[in-house]
This record gives sequence, structure tokens and C-alpha cells, in this order.
Amino acid sequence: MSIVYQFTNACEDKNLLGNKGANLVVMNKLRLPVPPEFVISIDAYKEYKRSGNLPLEEIKQALEALEQRTGKRLGQGLAVSVRSSAPASMPGMMDTMLDVKEAADVLTSIKRVFDSWDNPRAVEYRRLNRIPVDLGTAAIIQAMVFGDLDEKSGTGVMFTRNPSTGERGLFGEYLSKAKGEDLVSGRRTPQPISSFQSEMPDLYAQLKEVAIILENHFHDMQDVEFTIESDRLYILQTRSGKRSGQAAVKIAVDMAKEGLISREEAILRVSADDVRAFLHRRIESPEKYKPIARGLAAAHGATTAAVVFDPLEAVEAKRRNERVILVRPETNPDDIQGISAAVGVLTSRGGLTSHAAIVTRAMGKPCICGTEEVKIDLEAKQFETRGQTVKKGDVITIDGSTGSIYLGALPLVESEGTSELAELLTWADGFKRLTVKANADTVEAIALAKKFGAEGIGLCRTERQFNAPERLAAIRAFILAETETQKEKALALLRELQKEDFVAIFRELQGMPIIIRLLDLPLHEFLPSEAETSDPDLKKRIAELCETNPMLGHRGVRLAVTSPEIYQMQIDAIAEARAEVEANVSIMVPQVITLQELMWVKGMIKDKGLKIGVMMETVRACMRAGWLAKEADFFSFGTNDLTQAVYSFSREDAEKKFLTTYLEAGILKDNPFLVLDIKGVGRLMETAISWARKEKASLEVGVCGEQAGEPRSIMFLHSAGVDSVSCSPFRIPIAKLAAAQVGIMEKRLAAEEKRLAALVTGG
Ligand code: PEP
Ligand code: MG
Repeated sequence: MSIVYQFTNACEDKNLLGNKGANLVVMNKLRLPVPPEFVISIDAYKEYKRSGNLPLEEIKQALEALEQRTGKRLGQGLAVSVRSSAPASMPGMMDTMLDVKEAADVLTSIKRVFDSWDNPRAVEYRRLNRIPVDLGTAAIIQAMVFGDLDEKSGTGVMFTRNPSTGERGLFGEYLSKAKGEDLVSGRRTPQPISSFQSEMPDLYAQLKEVAIILENHFHDMQDVEFTIESDRLYILQTRSGKRSGQAAVKIAVDMAKEGLISREEAILRVSADDVRAFLHRRIESPEKYKPIARGLAAAHGATTAAVVFDPLEAVEAKRRNERVILVRPETNPDDIQGISAAVGVLTSRGGLTSHAAIVTRAMGKPCICGTEEVKIDLEAKQFETRGQTVKKGDVITIDGSTGSIYLGALPLVESEGTSELAELLTWADGFKRLTVKANADTVEAIALAKKFGAEGIGLCRTERQFNAPERLAAIRAFILAETETQKEKALALLRELQKEDFVAIFRELQGMPIIIRLLDLPLHEFLPSEAETSDPDLKKRIAELCETNPMLGHRGVRLAVTSPEIYQMQIDAIAEARAEVEANVSIMVPQVITLQELMWVKGMIKDKGLKIGVMMETVRACMRAGWLAKEADFFSFGTNDLTQAVYSFSREDAEKKFLTTYLEAGILKDNPFLVLDIKGVGRLMETAISWARKEKASLEVGVCGEQAGEPRSIMFLHSAGVDSVSCSPFRIPIAKLAAAQVGIMEKRLAAEEKRLAALVTGG
């Protein structure tokens, strides 16, 4: 078996040749002008790791063949580069050797490339990007071409579409009479690709042709490195280009419309991170402010935070839950942790294809590059620009969409999306089975939810309506009431306020269904602290109501058992509001543990048009799911409280106290309050759903905890037979996308199973 691949015997297997290697093979087959090369496979790497040996004879033969193809001898007009080629993209993480002229050096370097798989920055990059450690790398040996040979030489990086916006047309940078490293390192500030067009129109036309050929073959936007040596174009490398979230959406939608990919494929191409990054914030009325400097708009979005000048300080700040912007002359792969910890990056050197630009774009955080007017003093931890000095800890605002830097914290607003995203999400609606609803408690939140495409309100928390000061006073008056008269007075006011709220909410809904959850007060949240009051009677009452474990305390339906009038007040307010404005309303009871509680509340409902459901957020409710299903119209899993209960982790304190350490130590892989714990909470939910549906096959099941807006959790919830997820309005696009992706994957899997079954039965 051959382990050295030349273009005569080459296959396109990425697992054998790595991405770059396989792409070179393809480019050869497409007859693109590629400098002659051969690839030492990942099998050879694995053998080298095992035995320390390289396939010397095969390498020798391949070098000889390379000499024949170039018509030059190594060291006598021929020099080669040696590069890594892994099956996963790891830009700049491994070593590269250039201008190698001796056969012995070729071998030493091949070894260096293989050894660099284990260098610390590559290890860290793999950890951050979840790339398996045992993938390994191939090595590419390629004849060097020289972009700095003469006046008719140069080097460039070209994207077949704009990686920031997704616009069609070549995008990139070019440096005449320069080597590739001059461009990538940011040592020389490059010119836009348009200047290449004016300098060498014929070669530019050729490059455009190459872009079309590559896109037609790969069905994706390509990031292409090219060199001109004495008026001859060489394509050195092509790979799927990294892109901003906005570009990912536009490219996917455009390519589907151009017929390059299907709509299903377009949906699968866009990740939740892409959409999240793209729903980035921007500065409200930027025209009102004067920037202190301007650089290249390298990665979209605006952010505001204190500046730090050291990647390690960014990491420390993140640990303390502080937001920082990392300011560096330029960044390199060693800075990856610092970039990942910062909320934005500002550099004084480097172009739009520099390291900082590419990495931040992929991470979806704002970045401004090549801000040459910013003079950074790393020693003094400050920068100067236009007569201003900005020191470590000073707050700035950066706008990665325009390249402007401002002093202080400017007001930011969330993005409103683009027409392409809206179109993609419309396509997604056609592929998903899950209904995507919003958690929204106010008229404003419901308006936002509608804008983001919510298909209902899956959780309206009524206690949130009491956050305004005058309303807080009303609910406190009820909680602290000592006499029946005080209680009745407080209730009458509450009922009036609630009815007003519901009328406004129902008007805003315009027929969209809503699940209203009855009060779930952890009482402490609404009480003044003892220190806040000087009234001794009040102090006494507060002390009486104080609980050691409020999250496991007097909340939810328990409150309705001890004080039925409060739920009665809410139920009546809902019915009265419904009499004024027609609305599709369901009532949900929180913290239920037994059927008797549900019956207790059901007994209060006179309006027969109201449906009633159980919030499944205690372990006992899950264990009694079959019984509860008998009387419930629907279930909605409150996975915040359910996770708290299953783990015995306080949802208030775990993150601050120990959960971060658990995650850092790898004891837990994910924070279960963010990503649904499939093996524990998920299994409990599946069990509860199966018992409930045995009792009532048509029972509607939703999920409304935080995890309901998280893509991996959504994939599981789909397969667990859940009907709907409900999440914050901003997460609706991501939830819809994830729901469509799992729908498409399920459909493809079923087709594949059918195909295999037909093969087995000979059909
Ligand atoms: C839950 O517990 O998952 C939930 C959605 O309700 P809350 O966060 O209000 O307790
Ligand atoms: Mg809850």
C-alpha cells in the first residue's frame, strides 16, 4: 500500500491526505495551475508516531518524480515547502518549512511537521474546537514558487465571496513582489484585490475563472492562496473559507438560489453559532459619537468593555466574569485562549485575512484590525491615538462592522437580522417538527417574540409583571398582609393590575396561543431585606417568612394550597380579560408534585375555554406523569428547576461556587443549566413522557427551561418526542434552525435506512 501520494496515484480522501492534501489533488484534477507536489499520508504519520520511521524509499522516489516534473533539481533551482494537512481545519497551529533545498532537510522537516501536531497551541486549539486528538496530520511537499522574484510577481489571498458579508464577487488582499508570509503575518499592509485587477487584468480574469471552477466543484465558498511568479499564476491552496455568521447565512441562501446546493443543504450549512454571531449588536446612533481611531472592520458586531493588553489578563478577567477587549499589535495562534476569553479584539497591525480577523470572525466576536493610528505600548499597558491615552481598565467601544473605536461605553442595540436570515428561517419552518415558542412576560417581549417568528408564547411568568416599583409594593402588601382585610385590599389591587396586563397581552398576541403560568414566587425575591426597613413589625414578619432554602420552599402551587385566593385572583383576572379580548389561553401550574394539587387548582377554573397543564419541574411529577396526564391538557418541562432537583445543585449558587471548577476539571462536560443533561434529566423526561402518553397518547409536551433554546438540547428534545420548545425571543432563530436541522437529519437517516433495507432484501 502506498503511503506517499503523487498526483498520478492520488485519491481525494481527506482522512488519508488531510484537507489541504485532498484539495490539492482535486485542483490537479480540475487542471488548475498548482505547483507540483506530493503528499505523505496520515497513515505515514501514524506509523511515524508508532515507530519513529518515515517511508524513506517512497519519499526518495517522490522527490525524484518532483524533480522530473519541474525539470529542476533540488538545490539547483528547485526548493520545496513542507506543510501540515489535517482532516480538520487548524489554521496556523502546526509548523511550516519553506525554501527547503536539501533532501535530508526535507526529511527533518517532515518530522517537524508531524511533531508539531502535539505542540501546545495545536493541543489547545483542538481542545477549544473539539477536534479529536487522534486524527493526525499528513505532510505536503510542494515545489516553491516565488512571489518576490521580480516586478511581475506577487502573492495574495482570495475569497470567492466576501467572508464578512457573503456578497458575491472576489474579495481579498494582494501584495506585489512579496512572499505569502509577508501577507499573513501582517508585516506589510496589503492592497485590496481590486488593485491586483488594475495591475494585472489578465491574471485577475484567470483568478475569477478559478473561483468559478472551485465553487462549482466544492459547492462552497473557497479561501484560496495564490502566487504570481514572473507573470504566471499559481494556486497554492484552497479550502472552505471561514466566514462571519452573516456571510454564512447569505452564502447558504444565495448558493441554494443559484442551484449549487439544495435548501436542506443550506439549512445544514448554517450553524447556531453563525446565527448567534450574526444577530450581533450595533451602536445606537453612531453618528452622535466621534471615534478616537479607525481600523479595518474585520469581524462584525459592536461591543463595549475595559481594555487589557495581555491575553493572559483576558483569561483572568473571564474567570472573574469580567468583560474585556484584548488590544494587541497583532495576534498569533498562541493568543487563542486570550481571544476566546475576550469579548472583542483590537489590533494595530494586520489585514482582513490576518490571524486576529479570521479567528474572531469564526468566533463571532467583534474585531478591528490594522488600526495603525493606535500606538500600543505593551510595557506601559496603554495605547495612544489622536492625542488620547487609553490605559488598561479604561472602557472603550469597538464597532467591528465599521472599524470605529470610541472612548467609553456607548449604548448598543441588538441586530434585527437580514432578509437572507428571514428567508432561511422560512425554509427551516418547512423542515422542522418542533413548534418554537417564546418565553415572554410583557407586551414588549411578546412583540419581540413575534418579530423573531415565535409560534406562540410557551411561558408567560406572571410574577415578572410585578417588577416595577408600584407593582412590587402591591405584591409585597399581599405577602406581608396580617389581617384578612389587608389581604383582600391587596388582592383587589393585584387583580386589577393583572387584568390590565392580560388585556394588553391578549391584544398584542392577536390570536397567538399563550401559556400563562400562575404565580411561582420564591417569596424572598419579593421581600425587602430586614435592613431595608426600620418598622419592627415588618422586620418580624420578614423574619417569619424567611426560608433557609427558598428555591425549595414556599413557592408555586404550594402557595396556592396555603393561600388559594392568590391563584383564584389570577384565574379570575385571566377569565375577565378573556371576556374582553378573545385569546387562546392555557394555564400552567408550577412546582406540582401530585395529582391532588392539580385538582385543587382545576377546581378554581370556571371558564371552560381555559386549558390547564402541569409544569413538570419536580422529580415526583415525572414519577407520577401517568397520573398527572389523566387530568392535564398538556405538560411543559421546566428544565431549570428539574435540573436543580435531579442534580441537587442550587440553580442560584452552583455556578458561582463550584460548577465552573467542575467544568474546568472536566468532571462535567457541560453546564447542565445551559445544555440539557441527556443522560440524567433527559432520561427522566423520556420516562415521564412515555408514561404520560400511555395514559393520553395526544398529550402535548413542551419544554420551557433555558435549555429549550440550546441547539444540542433541541436535537435531543426532538428525538424524545417533545412537541414544542419555548425560549427567549432572541434565541428563536437558533432554535428554529436547530429544529429544522434535526428534522432534516432524521429524514436523511430514514431514507438511508430504507436504502440499506432494500439492499439487504435485494429490493
Ligand atoms: C424552569 O424551572 O425551567 C422554568 C422555566 O421556570 P423558572 O425558571 O421560572 O423556575
Ligand atoms: Mg421553574
